[in-house]
Amino acid sequence: MKAHDGMYIGGQWRPAAGTDTIAVVNPADEQVIAHVPAGTPEDVDAAVRAARAALPAWAATPPAERAALLTALRDELARRQDLIAQTVTAELGAPPGLARAVHTGMPLMVAGSYADLAATYSFEERIGNSTVLMEPVGVVAAITPWNYPLHQVIAKVAPALAAGCTVVLKPAEDTPLTAQLFAEAVHDAGVPAGVFNLVTGLGPVAGQALAAHEDVDLVSFTGSTAVGRQIGATAGAAIKRVALELGGKSANVILPGADLAKAVAVGIANVMSNSGQTCSAWTRMLVHRDQYDEAVALAAAAVAAYVPGDRIGPLVNAGQQQRVRGYIEKGIAEGARVVAGGPDAPLETGYYVRPTVFADVTPGMTIAQEEIFGPVVSILKYEDEEDALAIANGTVYGLAGAVWAAQDEAAVAFARRMDTGQVDINGGRFNPLAPFGGYKQSGVGRELGPHGLAEYLQTKSLQF
Ligand code: NAP
Ligand code: MG
Repeated sequence: MKAHDGMYIGGQWRPAAGTDTIAVVNPADEQVIAHVPAGTPEDVDAAVRAARAALPAWAATPPAERAALLTALRDELARRQDLIAQTVTAELGAPPGLARAVHTGMPLMVAGSYADLAATYSFEERIGNSTVLMEPVGVVAAITPWNYPLHQVIAKVAPALAAGCTVVLKPAEDTPLTAQLFAEAVHDAGVPAGVFNLVTGLGPVAGQALAAHEDVDLVSFTGSTAVGRQIGATAGAAIKRVALELGGKSANVILPGADLAKAVAVGIANVMSNSGQTCSAWTRMLVHRDQYDEAVALAAAAVAAYVPGDRIGPLVNAGQQQRVRGYIEKGIAEGARVVAGGPDAPLETGYYVRPTVFADVTPGMTIAQEEIFGPVVSILKYEDEEDALAIANGTVYGLAGAVWAAQDEAAVAFARRMDTGQVDINGGRFNPLAPFGGYKQSGVGRELGPHGLAEYLQTKSLQF
């Protein structure tokens, strides 16, 4: 695609206030593929003013009309499926199959779900002698990461629009082209001017200005815990609503009696997908000591299928590649055993990392505690169910997880005791309507489905 050299503000592409640009790099071949403008606080201010001006009319638009516009948006995205997939491949490095199925297919599903929800959601409730009105929160600042460039945008913008909010989006600097495509789709769908606005730019400049803007009512952020903590503090000081989707270190708990081969295979696939750049990835595999050696062998064999440059793409940039290789070195230094992969780069060009499996990982090790955000799995041994639970719950995170057992009931009983926001039972399927979000330091708030919509609403009670 041809990159826009301006910002999408108030229904049109406008020149940026400053002259700085950001180079967009293809992480598979390290070539610069485009430049986009680096937004300044002035651009952010113009976008927030446009969103504020558009708010009263959009908030008063009947939900059925908002639903029709979201359907049109879904259709505009569907028309651009090939271009979206190609763009995600170019700026994130996702292999074409993944770019189509996950990076394009999933956001389409979520956009469709909010077209439906806008039409069917009950924005009014009766409690005793009160009528409770669910009203839009107002102007939303959406700050998104690069790992799922379109999904993360849709998961915020679609529910915000369904709720009657207006939005300013600051996408990740690594993946602004997908965000520009999204803005084109919004425009062609006929969404009124100012309801959605896009400011590309750097986090500490444009992102910071947006999160701190006094005329923003809610900040919805997905990304690192460090930045999330800062945004939460800024929002707290301003008594502003905030939603944070942060990191994870999710456990894949394989109980004795489970289908071991399946649990290991699905567990490895879960981490390797998107080169391990998934906040909800099951990066800790917990196996009973009697099955441990067998699980390690199965995992090492499964990971061999992920050939860098073919089935598994690069990491998004050189910094992430270095970071992940550093974690692999740290794992070795702390005494974990590499059974597949390792810290050396598998290809000369591109930000690739070798798919890596660690055995003999103990719960206190850095690689068992910190989010690596790369294709690295740590296999931990447990003695009994209590031990497994202590390990599963023994990190600061709590975003996702999996439990495998001979019977669903046993897996459910274990899942009930896990401090985490989502658990897949015996390989349960992804549900785009299920609330997604974290316990503990994995975040505040929920995305997707009706729970995700509720984040963008505030209540007003009328007494009769
Ligand atoms: P990040 O810096 O937190 O980026 C997320 C978003 O926040 C980006 O749009 C970023 O802009 C913006 N941002 C950065 N600093 C900001 C600030 N001071 N104020 C407002 N916005 C700001 O994450 P990252 O550097 O891309 O990745 C680092 C680590 O974060 C990863 O290794 C991983 O552990 C974690 N991560 C988690 C998720 C998730 O889904 N939970 C996603 C991505 C990364 P820029 O693009 O310009 O930085
Ligand atoms: Mg960053």
